[in-house]
Amino acid sequence: MVGTIKLPHTCPHCKKTTAKTAVELEEKFGYRTLPSGATNQSWCRMCRSDNK
Ligand SMILES: [Zn+2]
Repeated sequence: MVGTIKLPHTCPHCKKTTAKTAVELEEKFGYRTLPSGATNQSWCRMCRSDNK
């Protein structure tokens, strides 16, 4: 299940990390399926940790 993210998906922040499959999306972005269904802000893991 990919949610609302279209593949391939490139990180909107660094524009370097790209996921071509749902598996890569989960590995590189670690997206969550929220009850609200909001998965738009899918920065990659690196950008997320940088931003903290
Ligand atoms: Zn990124």
